[in-house]
Amino acid sequence: MPRPLHATVFPSALAHNVATVRRCLAQAAEPGASLPRVWAVIKANAYGHGIERMLPGASSADGLAMLDLEEAVRCREAGWAGPVMLLEGFFEPADLAVLERYRLCAVVHDASQLDMIRSIRPRQPLDIYLKLNTGMNRLGFAPGRYRAAYDEALALRAQGLLGSIGHATHFASGDSPEHVTHVAGIFDRATLDMPGARSLCNSAAIFGSPAFAARTDWVRPGICLYGATPFDDGAVSAQALGLRPAMALRSTLIAEQHVQAGGGVGYGARFVADRPTRVGIVACGYADGYPRHAPTGTPVVVHGVRTRLVGRVSMDMLAVDLQPVPEAQVGSPVTLWGADGLSVDEVAAAAGTIGYELLTAVTARVPMRTAQD
Ligand SMILES: *Cc1c(COP(=O)(O)O)cnc(C)c1O
Repeated sequence: MPRPLHATVFPSALAHNVATVRRCLAQAAEPGASLPRVWAVIKANAYGHGIERMLPGASSADGLAMLDLEEAVRCREAGWAGPVMLLEGFFEPADLAVLERYRLCAVVHDASQLDMIRSIRPRQPLDIYLKLNTGMNRLGFAPGRYRAAYDEALALRAQGLLGSIGHATHFASGDSPEHVTHVAGIFDRATLDMPGARSLCNSAAIFGSPAFAARTDWVRPGICLYGATPFDDGAVSAQALGLRPAMALRSTLIAEQHVQAGGGVGYGARFVADRPTRVGIVACGYADGYPRHAPTGTPVVVHGVRTRLVGRVSMDMLAVDLQPVPEAQVGSPVTLWGADGLSVDEVAAAAGTIGYELLTAVTARVPMRTAQD
């Protein structure tokens, strides 16, 4: 018998969330303006949901974006024929043959990548986006270097090595409209008079600055497509944005304990009962990807009732307070996140992290099912 812990993923939720992004853009756009196209970001194995499982939902986007060449190839092998973008471009000269064979477009963020194109000389012109560093100081050409990089790209195109040349950047604080406006100014000045598609907005910038996002050519939502909030401080919930969770993590109670007043629960007795307390043991631990640093009080739903985690999360189990759930018993269903009104963002906030980390941390030993709805 496998452990009762399992994750269910919902490709239909991803399709719903793509539609929600499009609706948000449509509502913010000037009347009659054409809307940006949508790169669905499916990096990190579709934020932990599984690329092949989520592809039926992701295929309602206009293109797919990721960093791993291997993930890009998996999309092609699963039948995706539309645009594919590599957000970090390519890493070594041999990668260019893969880009050519699978028709992948690449972000070029460093001069070394232009050098590789010059020396390998792909037979098919490669479509690229040049990346501008607008202050995040992670990837991209500095504004003062951007024109030189663009001129170099034009020279490569004149030799038949490049096809389209677009422009991209990434926001350090996409959830701040002031930051987005500031960065947009840097971006406009650096790319002024350069033709080509423009791609700037992640989930936070789409929902935080929709009127700006609606004026770009391609947006790049990631986390919102999986139904978690892009807002760091949880200021706006995923539900308020009209998003649906794409993963539910569920298990059951496998034991119960009657803890006396003064009795501890779990390693280090980090929780001590102040009165006789019924405690349930759930098959889910940090080796499954549940955050070990989630403290007592982290929300958990047992038998449809919201209660709290108590004591330290162990490798394979965690403990919950059954006082609010008198009907709970061994075998009762438990929701860790993504259903019964418990969002991954609430669990993440309690654990001092973000939904992105929890969704991408679910480990390989957790069986994943695809909901067919
Ligand atoms: C991850 C990523 C995105 C998507 O970000 P979300 O916050 O998940 O929407 C967009 N663009 C780039 C370059 C990224 O790396």
